[in-house]
Parts: sequence; C-alpha cells; structure tokens
Amino acid sequence: EQKWLGRNGVCVYDQQLQHEYIRKLKLRDKLKHAIKDKKISVYYQPIIDNKTGTVCKFEALARWYDEHDGFIPPSVFIPIAERYGLIGMLGQQVFEKACADLDRIHRCGFRDVIFSINHSVKEFSQHNQEYIFEIINNYNLPYSAIMIEITESTALDDGKNILEILAAFRERGIAISLDDFGTGYSSLAAIIDIKPDIIKIDRSFIVDIEHSKESQMLVSLVIDLSCKLNVEVVAEGVETQAQLDILSSMSCHYIQGYYYSPAVAIDDAIMILKARNGDISIDNIDTKLLQ
Ligand code: C2E
Ligand code: MG
Ligand code: MG
Ligand code: MG
Repeated sequence: EQKWLGRNGVCVYDQQLQHEYIRKLKLRDKLKHAIKDKKISVYYQPIIDNKTGTVCKFEALARWYDEHDGFIPPSVFIPIAERYGLIGMLGQQVFEKACADLDRIHRCGFRDVIFSINHSVKEFSQHNQEYIFEIINNYNLPYSAIMIEITESTALDDGKNILEILAAFRERGIAISLDDFGTGYSSLAAIIDIKPDIIKIDRSFIVDIEHSKESQMLVSLVIDLSCKLNVEVVAEGVETQAQLDILSSMSCHYIQGYYYSPAVAIDDAIMILKARNGDISIDNIDTKLLQ
C-alpha cells in the first residue's frame, strides 16, 4: 500500500483519497442525471423588510433530494457542479423554475414580490448569461422583480469582464446583490467596484453579534457606510430575537434567517404571502412568520 507524508507530517493513505475521489465522481454522475431529469428543486427563503415587518423578497435556493442518498446540501453539490462544468445547466434550471414560480406569485396578486437568485462565480466564466434575459422575458416578468446574488470573490476574480456583464444586468433594471459580505478579502473595494444595490452581511457576523464587539462593530460600520452609499443591507442567518433587536437598533433594512423562516416550497411561500395580507389564518403555517 502506498502512502506519503502530507504537508503537516500526517500520513495520508492513497487509497483513502482514491475512495474520496470515486465518491465525488459518482456524485457528479448522479448530479448530471438529476439535472437532466429536472430533479433539482428550488425552495424560497423569505426576506423581511425590517421597517414594516413584512415579507417583500425571497431568496431562491437549490434543493436536491436523492432517492438513495437523501437530502444533499448545496454546500456539497454546488462546488461539484462548478468543478465539473454542470453549473451552467444547473443555474439555468434554477433560474427557470424560480421565474415560473415568481410568475405564479405575481399572478396570485403579489406583484411587489422580488426573487433573489444566486449566480455562481464559474457561471460567469463558463457560460453565456443571455438565458437570464430570455427566461425573464418568456415569463413576461419585469426585470425589476429579479435580483442576482453574487459573492465578492466572483466579481474581483475575473475582473472587468464580470463588471461588464453586471452592467448589462443593471442596464435592464436587474438589481445586483453582494452575497456573504465580509468573508472576502477586499470587501470595501468590492462595494466601490460593483456598486451593488444590496449587501448581504454574512451569517458568520450575525451568529456572534450578541457577544462579539468586533462583529457588532463590523455590522454597524457596514450599515452606516451602505446608508451613505445608498446601498441597502440584508442580515443573513438571523436566528434569535436578541440578534434581531441588535440589528434593529442599527437600522438594518432587511432580515433573513431561521428566526422568521427557513427556505420553503413554493406552496408554503404563497401561504406566507397570503398570511401577510391577512387573506388566510396564520395558524396554517408553522414558521415563526406565522405565529
Ligand atoms: P447563500 O447564498 O449565502 O444562502 C444562504 C444560506 O444560509 C442557505 O443555505 C440558507 O438555507 C442558509 N440560512 C438561512 N438562514 C439561516 C439561519 O438562520 N441559520 C443557518 N444556519 N443557516 C441559514 P443553503 O440553502 O444550504 O445554501 C448554501 C449555499 O449554496 C448558498 O449560500 C449559495 O452560496 C449556494 N447555493 C444555493 N442554491 C444555489 C443556486 O441555485 N445557485 C448557486 N450558484 N448557488 C446556490
Ligand atoms: Mg445567496
Ligand atoms: Mg448568502
Ligand atoms: Mg452566507
């Protein structure tokens, strides 16, 4: 059996790596089929306007349930899709489903609702973005009902080309949202370069906001700066009343997190909107939003 000394002096068995590699390839093939068979579904997590306390947006999040392996999280399959050239197809499918569902929501009468859809780093370099305009037009949705979420590494890695694509989005009225803000290396430069409409402060700063002076300082700094630049702020991963209270005291514009609701299927998203308008009893849904 072969082995070698790893970087930290740890013995790593070749065989173990091989197993890991084979597992990944199997997952890749499964993912390829799941995409081909349109088995990737999309769930929607409410984003709450913190001034009014109402749901105004949803983030579209890809979901994959495999009959054999069960629920496989995006943190596992998105990197695989990116690595093996599947992210274009996957992204397109998510986008298509999200637009079909948003069209349904609008036709239910909730015409102010906006969908925020993740767009991967690799999609910019590997694929044509034209499908975004085509799908939006096919469903006759206003461009202003769609927001594209990118991470700051996306924008800065590939430089100018991405800024041009983003400019084309913006020209049509599609808003740009800077995801996982604070986790990259050039956060402030990214605000200036990308000029996003929205910044989403990463969950890692929210999770310890109660106890970490540093996180508190960063979040309040980002909110103040954003205010000056006319950029709105979403706090990601808000789970407790205490976190919400701190964010409210900082006048954070939008709240997203399990405190209100996890991502839910489209039918439940519509229920949440109906409850928002008082059309149905809130007893019918069991997320915090409905208590
Ligand atoms: P993200 O875009 O930052 O999405 C937010 C993630 O945080 C979601 O995880 C969401 O379920 C989770 N989350 C929301 N509120 C809370 C909370 O209060 N507590 C905790 N612990 N987590 C919370 P999810 O759905 O597992 O997605 C993970 C990441 O995968 C996303 O992070 C995004 O980067 C990527 N992703 C998901 N769907 C897509 C997609 O359709 N396309 C692309 N390119 N990436 C996607
Ligand atoms: Mg996101
Ligand atoms: Mg995020
Ligand atoms: Mg995040």
